Amino acid sequence: MKGGSDGAAASSATASSASTSSATASSAPTGPRLLTGGPIAAQIREGLTADFAAFKERWGYSPTLAIVLVGADAPSAVYLQQILRTCEKVGVLGRLVGIGSDVTPDAVCNEIERLNADPAVAGIIVQMPLPARIPLRTVIDSIDPAKDIDGIHPRNAGLLSLGYDGFLPATAQAAVEILKRSGIEIAGKRVVVVGRSNVVGKPAALLLMREHGTVSILHSKTRDLGHHTRDAEILVVAAGKPGLVTGEMLSPGVVVVDVGINVVGDKLLGDVDFESAKGVVSAITPVPGGVGPLTNALLLTHLLQAATAQAERSAAAAESVAAR
Ligand code: NAP
Repeated sequence: MKGGSDGAAASSATASSASTSSATASSAPTGPRLLTGGPIAAQIREGLTADFAAFKERWGYSPTLAIVLVGADAPSAVYLQQILRTCEKVGVLGRLVGIGSDVTPDAVCNEIERLNADPAVAGIIVQMPLPARIPLRTVIDSIDPAKDIDGIHPRNAGLLSLGYDGFLPATAQAAVEILKRSGIEIAGKRVVVVGRSNVVGKPAALLLMREHGTVSILHSKTRDLGHHTRDAEILVVAAGKPGLVTGEMLSPGVVVVDVGINVVGDKLLGDVDFESAKGVVSAITPVPGGVGPLTNALLLTHLLQAATAQAERSAAAAESVAAR
């Protein structure tokens, strides 16, 4: 694979330079411990700003992150603003590639092929959800795995499932990192994940299993959701359903990671009903301000790794041509 195989390892290394636990959590006066992603993300961004400056110094350009948006979607718009802001903060060029929802699947793939071939573009992410008429699989398959910094290509997904290094889906990685960096032990715990999507639930479950959690995965066909969620010592919810998990579906002291981002009126709500959950849980990620900020920072650690691998490969190719 071009550049992707060691992406996550280096990403973790960059991310690991941020310190852990105490900086990541705060307590409401009477509520549970709040696991906020902002402080961890700020530490990662600080390292990245220096790393991207060094990259520019060495290679003479700043890498570009291309974000492909097909049609318009409210949660995507929120996410896009966040990621473009993060790019700007660390010295990455964010390029929004907007494509109308009325185009053909071929036109979307052609656009991705152009980005694959563009040496300035180090990483490509495609905003989900895609319009129903654009087949997800065709689009995903067209991304160069070496530029697939959100780990959605089958090659990177396969590497994750085998336990090899590859680009990890950043949101799933963030859900696990926020636990680890908050000092919450995963090994041996009963961990329940609500959601089995390829981009969040499934990779989060695989990563939690990698951390030696005893993992169950719930989905829309699971009977009696509360029966299973009440068994959790750690609960990760990524269903895209605002307020799906309520306090009475939780056991006292559970740690909750709420991945959901739902635009409801003028509010952003998680998948967990915070008001009823806050008296039951020992710790919980707020929405907004939990997993989201960390996701973007981790994604840019993947971009740095991809850009470095690509620049080194181009330099090696140029040297070998010159030596002939
Ligand atoms: P998705 O593709 O729609 O998948 C949702 C999953 O939840 C599916 O596996 C679905 O089950 C399951 N589900 C839906 N309703 C359920 C119910 N009533 N009971 C149990 N399971 C249910 O969504 P996604 O892309 O994984 O995203 C999940 C959430 O994370 C969304 O709110 C999204 O906005 C958010 N998100 C956050 C970030 C971040 O940075 N924080 C990034 C990406 C996404 P089936 O498989 O049976 O359909």
